[in-house]
Amino acid sequence: MSASTSRQITYSPAYTIVPTYECFNRCTYCNFRTNPGESPWLALTEAENLLTSLQNTGVCEILILSGEVHPNSPLRKAWFDRIFDICQLALSLGFLPHTNVGPLSFAEMALLKNVNVSMGLMLEQLTPSLLNTVHKNAPSKLPELRLKQLEFAGKFKIPFTTGLLLGIGESSADWWESLEAIAKLHQRWRHIQEVILQPHSPGTQQTGQFPAFDNHLLPEIISKAKEILPAEITIQIPPNLVQEPELLLACLDAGARDLGGIGPKDEVNPDYPHPHYQKLTEILQPANWELVPRLPVYPQYDKWLSKELRITVKQWRNSLKFARSVII
Ligand code: SF4
Repeated sequence: MSASTSRQITYSPAYTIVPTYECFNRCTYCNFRTNPGESPWLALTEAENLLTSLQNTGVCEILILSGEVHPNSPLRKAWFDRIFDICQLALSLGFLPHTNVGPLSFAEMALLKNVNVSMGLMLEQLTPSLLNTVHKNAPSKLPELRLKQLEFAGKFKIPFTTGLLLGIGESSADWWESLEAIAKLHQRWRHIQEVILQPHSPGTQQTGQFPAFDNHLLPEIISKAKEILPAEITIQIPPNLVQEPELLLACLDAGARDLGGIGPKDEVNPDYPHPHYQKLTEILQPANWELVPRLPVYPQYDKWLSKELRITVKQWRNSLKFARSVII
Protein backbone atom coordinates (compact mmCIF):
# COMPACT_ATOMS: atom_id res chain seq x y z
CA MET A 1 0.00 0.00 0.00
CA SER A 2 1.46 3.43 -0.83
CA ALA A 3 1.83 6.09 1.85
CA SER A 4 -1.01 8.09 0.34
CA THR A 5 -3.56 5.27 0.42
CA SER A 6 -2.55 3.65 3.72
CA ARG A 7 -4.16 4.74 6.96
CA GLN A 8 -0.78 5.27 8.57
CA ILE A 9 0.43 8.57 9.89
CA THR A 10 4.03 8.88 10.98
CA TYR A 11 5.93 10.85 13.60
CA SER A 12 9.55 10.93 14.68
CA PRO A 13 10.30 10.29 18.39
CA ALA A 14 12.67 13.20 18.79
CA TYR A 15 14.48 15.38 21.26
CA THR A 16 15.67 18.88 20.40
CA ILE A 17 19.10 20.05 21.46
CA VAL A 18 19.81 23.77 21.21
CA PRO A 19 23.53 24.67 21.02
CA THR A 20 22.56 28.34 21.47
CA TYR A 21 19.50 30.56 21.31
CA GLU A 22 21.55 33.55 20.18
CA CYS A 23 20.76 34.70 16.68
CA PHE A 24 21.92 37.64 14.61
CA ASN A 25 18.58 37.71 12.72
CA ARG A 26 15.51 39.38 14.16
CA CYS A 27 12.47 37.79 12.54
CA THR A 28 9.51 39.54 14.15
CA TYR A 29 7.54 36.31 14.67
CA CYS A 30 10.43 34.56 16.44
CA ASN A 31 9.84 32.96 19.84
CA PHE A 32 13.27 31.37 20.03
CA ARG A 33 16.07 33.90 19.75
CA THR A 34 18.09 35.91 22.24
CA ASN A 35 20.57 38.64 21.38
CA PRO A 36 24.14 37.60 20.54
CA GLY A 37 26.11 37.07 23.73
CA GLU A 38 23.00 36.53 25.87
CA SER A 39 22.66 32.76 25.55
CA PRO A 40 25.50 30.63 26.92
CA TRP A 41 26.39 27.91 24.43
CA LEU A 42 25.61 24.35 25.39
CA ALA A 43 28.81 22.72 26.64
CA LEU A 44 29.69 19.29 25.28
CA THR A 45 29.62 17.81 28.76
CA GLU A 46 26.06 19.11 29.23
CA ALA A 47 25.08 17.67 25.87
CA GLU A 48 26.60 14.35 26.85
CA ASN A 49 24.68 14.24 30.13
CA LEU A 50 21.46 15.07 28.33
CA LEU A 51 22.00 12.51 25.59
CA THR A 52 22.98 9.79 28.03
CA SER A 53 19.73 10.38 29.94
CA LEU A 54 17.79 9.86 26.68
CA GLN A 55 19.27 6.46 25.90
CA ASN A 56 16.73 3.63 25.95
CA THR A 57 13.79 6.01 26.23
CA GLY A 58 12.62 5.46 22.66
CA VAL A 59 14.06 8.74 21.39
CA CYS A 60 15.68 8.15 18.02
CA GLU A 61 16.12 11.56 16.37
CA ILE A 62 18.24 14.29 17.88
CA LEU A 63 17.17 17.53 16.25
CA ILE A 64 19.99 20.05 16.51
CA LEU A 65 18.33 23.43 16.24
CA SER A 66 20.30 26.60 16.74
CA GLY A 67 20.20 30.34 16.54
CA GLU A 68 22.70 31.65 14.02
CA VAL A 69 26.10 33.27 14.40
CA HIS A 70 26.85 35.63 11.50
CA PRO A 71 28.91 33.97 8.73
CA ASN A 72 31.56 36.71 9.05
CA SER A 73 31.72 36.64 12.84
CA PRO A 74 35.02 35.53 14.44
CA LEU A 75 32.84 33.17 16.52
CA ARG A 76 31.37 31.40 13.50
CA LYS A 77 33.93 28.58 13.45
CA ALA A 78 33.54 27.85 17.16
CA TRP A 79 29.74 27.86 16.72
CA PHE A 80 29.95 25.46 13.79
CA ASP A 81 32.43 23.19 15.59
CA ARG A 82 30.10 22.95 18.59
CA ILE A 83 27.24 21.88 16.32
CA PHE A 84 29.44 19.33 14.57
CA ASP A 85 30.69 17.94 17.89
CA ILE A 86 27.15 17.59 19.26
CA CYS A 87 26.10 15.68 16.13
CA GLN A 88 29.13 13.41 16.45
CA LEU A 89 28.41 12.82 20.13
CA ALA A 90 24.76 12.01 19.44
CA LEU A 91 25.82 9.51 16.79
CA SER A 92 28.37 7.91 19.06
CA LEU A 93 25.64 7.38 21.65
CA GLY A 94 23.42 5.68 19.09
CA PHE A 95 21.06 8.50 18.06
CA LEU A 96 20.29 9.79 14.57
CA PRO A 97 21.11 13.51 14.22
CA HIS A 98 19.14 15.92 12.03
CA THR A 99 20.55 19.45 11.94
CA ASN A 100 18.64 22.64 11.16
CA VAL A 101 20.79 25.66 12.01
CA GLY A 102 20.16 28.14 9.21
CA PRO A 103 22.06 28.71 5.96
CA LEU A 104 25.47 27.04 5.85
CA SER A 105 28.44 27.44 3.57
CA PHE A 106 29.20 24.72 1.03
CA ALA A 107 32.12 23.55 3.19
CA GLU A 108 30.04 23.53 6.40
CA MET A 109 27.35 21.48 4.75
CA ALA A 110 29.89 19.01 3.38
CA LEU A 111 31.19 18.43 6.91
CA LEU A 112 27.77 18.07 8.50
CA LYS A 113 26.72 15.47 5.93
CA ASN A 114 29.15 13.07 7.63
CA VAL A 115 27.35 13.28 10.97
CA ASN A 116 23.69 13.73 9.98
CA VAL A 117 21.21 11.29 8.48
CA SER A 118 19.18 14.21 7.13
CA MET A 119 19.11 17.97 7.44
CA GLY A 120 16.56 20.74 7.17
CA LEU A 121 15.90 24.38 6.45
CA MET A 122 12.50 26.00 6.04
CA LEU A 123 12.19 27.85 2.76
CA GLU A 124 9.41 29.78 4.58
CA GLN A 125 8.30 31.92 1.63
CA LEU A 126 9.90 32.88 -1.62
CA THR A 127 8.38 36.33 -1.95
CA PRO A 128 10.94 39.12 -1.42
CA SER A 129 8.15 41.37 -0.08
CA LEU A 130 8.72 39.92 3.41
CA LEU A 131 12.18 41.50 3.45
CA ASN A 132 10.38 44.80 4.00
CA THR A 133 8.28 43.48 6.89
CA VAL A 134 8.87 40.43 9.11
CA HIS A 135 12.34 39.80 7.66
CA LYS A 136 13.50 43.39 7.56
CA ASN A 137 16.29 42.59 10.02
CA ALA A 138 16.87 38.98 9.04
CA PRO A 139 19.62 38.65 6.40
CA SER A 140 19.40 34.84 6.56
CA LYS A 141 15.88 35.01 5.20
CA LEU A 142 16.93 36.16 1.72
CA PRO A 143 14.90 33.81 -0.47
CA GLU A 144 17.75 33.20 -2.92
CA LEU A 145 20.09 32.25 -0.06
CA ARG A 146 17.60 29.64 1.15
CA LEU A 147 17.02 28.29 -2.32
CA LYS A 148 20.78 27.94 -2.63
CA GLN A 149 20.83 25.82 0.53
CA LEU A 150 18.26 23.49 -0.94
CA GLU A 151 20.41 23.30 -4.03
CA PHE A 152 23.58 22.55 -2.00
CA ALA A 153 21.72 19.78 -0.17
CA GLY A 154 20.75 18.29 -3.51
CA LYS A 155 24.32 18.40 -4.79
CA PHE A 156 25.55 16.69 -1.63
CA LYS A 157 22.76 14.09 -1.71
CA ILE A 158 21.56 15.08 1.74
CA PRO A 159 18.01 13.89 2.48
CA PHE A 160 16.27 17.15 3.22
CA THR A 161 13.29 18.60 5.03
CA THR A 162 11.96 22.01 4.11
CA GLY A 163 8.66 23.78 4.35
CA LEU A 164 6.52 26.89 4.35
CA LEU A 165 5.73 29.20 7.21
CA LEU A 166 2.14 30.31 6.63
CA GLY A 167 0.57 33.57 7.72
CA ILE A 168 3.54 35.92 7.98
CA GLY A 169 2.25 38.43 5.46
CA GLU A 170 2.36 36.46 2.21
CA SER A 171 -0.46 35.95 -0.28
CA SER A 172 -1.97 32.65 -1.38
CA ALA A 173 -0.22 33.06 -4.75
CA ASP A 174 3.05 33.15 -2.79
CA TRP A 175 2.29 29.70 -1.30
CA TRP A 176 1.98 28.10 -4.71
CA GLU A 177 5.10 29.87 -5.97
CA SER A 178 7.13 28.61 -2.98
CA LEU A 179 5.80 25.06 -3.39
CA GLU A 180 6.57 25.13 -7.10
CA ALA A 181 10.16 26.18 -6.35
CA ILE A 182 10.55 23.23 -3.96
CA ALA A 183 9.04 20.86 -6.53
CA LYS A 184 11.44 22.14 -9.19
CA LEU A 185 14.49 21.64 -6.99
CA HIS A 186 13.34 18.17 -6.05
CA GLN A 187 12.81 17.25 -9.70
CA ARG A 188 16.45 18.08 -10.29
CA TRP A 189 18.02 16.49 -7.19
CA ARG A 190 15.34 14.10 -5.77
CA HIS A 191 16.37 14.98 -2.22
CA ILE A 192 13.32 16.52 -0.51
CA GLN A 193 11.84 13.90 1.78
CA GLU A 194 9.20 16.06 3.44
CA VAL A 195 7.61 19.50 3.31
CA ILE A 196 6.28 21.05 6.51
CA LEU A 197 3.27 23.34 6.33
CA GLN A 198 3.67 25.36 9.52
CA PRO A 199 0.95 27.84 10.45
CA HIS A 200 2.15 30.98 12.23
CA SER A 201 0.96 30.63 15.82
CA PRO A 202 1.63 33.73 17.93
CA GLY A 203 3.81 33.21 20.97
CA THR A 204 4.61 35.22 24.05
CA GLN A 205 8.15 36.16 23.03
CA GLN A 206 7.70 37.51 19.52
CA THR A 207 8.17 41.19 18.84
CA GLY A 208 5.66 41.51 15.99
CA GLN A 209 1.97 41.56 16.77
CA PHE A 210 -0.06 39.88 14.08
CA PRO A 211 -2.76 37.25 14.12
CA ALA A 212 -2.47 33.50 13.97
CA PHE A 213 -2.84 31.83 10.60
CA ASP A 214 -6.39 30.69 9.89
CA ASN A 215 -5.86 26.96 10.25
CA HIS A 216 -9.16 26.22 8.53
CA LEU A 217 -7.37 26.98 5.26
CA LEU A 218 -4.90 24.14 5.84
CA PRO A 219 -6.85 21.26 4.23
CA GLU A 220 -7.24 23.25 1.01
CA ILE A 221 -3.55 24.18 1.02
CA ILE A 222 -2.56 20.57 1.61
CA SER A 223 -4.72 19.43 -1.33
CA LYS A 224 -3.12 21.97 -3.61
CA ALA A 225 0.36 21.12 -2.27
CA LYS A 226 -0.32 17.49 -3.18
CA GLU A 227 -0.96 18.62 -6.74
CA ILE A 228 2.17 20.75 -6.93
CA LEU A 229 4.68 18.50 -5.14
CA PRO A 230 5.91 15.17 -6.50
CA ALA A 231 4.05 12.26 -4.90
CA GLU A 232 7.12 10.92 -3.07
CA ILE A 233 7.38 14.06 -0.88
CA THR A 234 5.55 13.64 2.42
CA ILE A 235 3.52 16.56 3.74
CA GLN A 236 4.01 17.25 7.43
CA ILE A 237 1.65 19.08 9.79
CA PRO A 238 2.69 20.00 13.37
CA PRO A 239 -0.09 18.65 15.61
CA ASN A 240 0.70 21.10 18.44
CA LEU A 241 -0.21 23.96 16.08
CA VAL A 242 -3.36 22.27 14.76
CA GLN A 243 -5.10 21.54 18.01
CA GLU A 244 -8.70 21.10 16.83
CA PRO A 245 -9.12 17.33 16.40
CA GLU A 246 -11.54 17.69 13.46
CA LEU A 247 -9.11 19.98 11.71
CA LEU A 248 -6.18 17.64 12.25
CA LEU A 249 -8.25 14.82 10.75
CA ALA A 250 -9.26 17.07 7.84
CA CYS A 251 -5.55 17.72 7.19
CA LEU A 252 -4.92 13.98 7.02
CA ASP A 253 -7.90 13.48 4.72
CA ALA A 254 -6.44 16.18 2.48
CA GLY A 255 -3.14 14.28 2.23
CA ALA A 256 -0.84 15.16 5.15
CA ARG A 257 0.93 11.98 6.31
CA ASP A 258 3.43 13.01 8.96
CA LEU A 259 3.33 14.83 12.30
CA GLY A 260 7.04 15.62 12.51
CA GLY A 261 9.35 15.29 15.46
CA ILE A 262 7.47 14.90 18.72
CA GLY A 263 9.25 15.42 22.02
CA PRO A 264 8.94 17.19 25.35
CA LYS A 265 9.24 20.73 23.93
CA ASP A 266 8.71 22.51 20.61
CA GLU A 267 11.63 24.92 20.86
CA VAL A 268 10.36 27.04 17.96
CA ASN A 269 6.84 27.33 19.40
CA PRO A 270 7.43 26.98 23.14
CA ASP A 271 3.87 28.18 23.91
CA TYR A 272 2.44 25.13 22.12
CA PRO A 273 3.54 21.86 23.76
CA HIS A 274 3.36 18.71 21.68
CA PRO A 275 0.34 16.54 22.39
CA HIS A 276 1.06 13.28 24.19
CA TYR A 277 1.07 10.07 22.23
CA GLN A 278 -2.02 8.93 24.12
CA LYS A 279 -3.96 12.06 23.21
CA LEU A 280 -2.99 11.80 19.57
CA THR A 281 -4.07 8.16 19.33
CA GLU A 282 -7.40 9.06 20.95
CA ILE A 283 -7.96 11.47 18.05
CA LEU A 284 -6.56 9.27 15.30
CA GLN A 285 -7.72 5.76 16.19
CA PRO A 286 -11.50 6.36 15.97
CA ALA A 287 -10.89 7.70 12.44
CA ASN A 288 -8.96 4.53 11.66
CA TRP A 289 -5.54 6.19 11.49
CA GLU A 290 -2.55 4.34 12.90
CA LEU A 291 0.20 6.46 14.43
CA VAL A 292 3.59 4.91 13.68
CA PRO A 293 7.12 6.03 14.53
CA ARG A 294 9.64 6.71 11.79
CA LEU A 295 13.32 7.57 11.56
CA PRO A 296 14.53 11.05 10.58
CA VAL A 297 15.69 9.56 7.27
CA TYR A 298 13.18 8.03 4.90
CA PRO A 299 14.10 4.51 3.68
CA GLN A 300 14.58 5.52 0.05
CA TYR A 301 17.54 7.67 1.14
CA ASP A 302 19.46 5.11 3.20
CA LYS A 303 21.66 4.46 0.17
CA TRP A 304 22.84 8.10 0.21
CA LEU A 305 24.38 7.74 3.67
CA SER A 306 27.95 6.81 4.52
CA LYS A 307 28.59 3.22 5.57
CA GLU A 308 28.95 4.29 9.19
CA LEU A 309 25.63 6.15 9.25
CA ARG A 310 23.90 3.32 7.43
CA ILE A 311 24.92 0.87 10.15
CA THR A 312 23.25 2.95 12.87
CA VAL A 313 20.18 3.54 10.71
CA LYS A 314 19.89 -0.18 10.05
CA GLN A 315 20.09 -0.92 13.76
CA TRP A 316 17.20 1.48 14.39
CA ARG A 317 15.14 0.05 11.57
CA ASN A 318 15.57 -3.43 13.04
CA SER A 319 15.39 -2.46 16.63
CA LEU A 320 12.63 -3.46 18.95
CA LYS A 321 13.52 -0.37 20.95
CA PHE A 322 11.96 1.60 18.15
CA ALA A 323 8.39 1.05 19.16
CA ARG A 324 6.86 3.88 21.14
CA SER A 325 8.62 6.81 22.70
CA VAL A 326 8.11 6.77 26.43
CA ILE A 327 8.63 10.49 26.73
CA ILE A 328 5.56 11.64 24.84
S1 SF4 B 1 13.26 32.66 13.31
FE1 SF4 B 1 15.31 31.69 13.25
S2 SF4 B 1 16.54 33.08 11.99
FE2 SF4 B 1 14.72 34.23 12.65
S3 SF4 B 1 15.39 35.27 14.53
FE3 SF4 B 1 14.42 33.35 15.12
S4 SF4 B 1 16.11 31.92 15.35
FE4 SF4 B 1 16.87 33.64 14.15
